[in-house]
Amino acid sequence: MQHKTTNPEEFFVRCNGGHPETGHPAVFLDLTKTEQISCPYCGTVYKKKEND
Ligand SMILES: [Zn+2]
Repeated sequence: MQHKTTNPEEFFVRCNGGHPETGHPAVFLDLTKTEQISCPYCGTVYKKKEND
């Protein structure tokens, strides 16, 4: 499973599976109420980048 970190100021992450042809329809994942979220299509986990 793939893990990606997001910009802390970004509350909606767009995921399309990584490839326009082999991926999935673009979806927006809501990070406003959670620290991490997984894409229901490809399972990629998006996690808010922690500030050091
Ligand atoms: Zn995805």
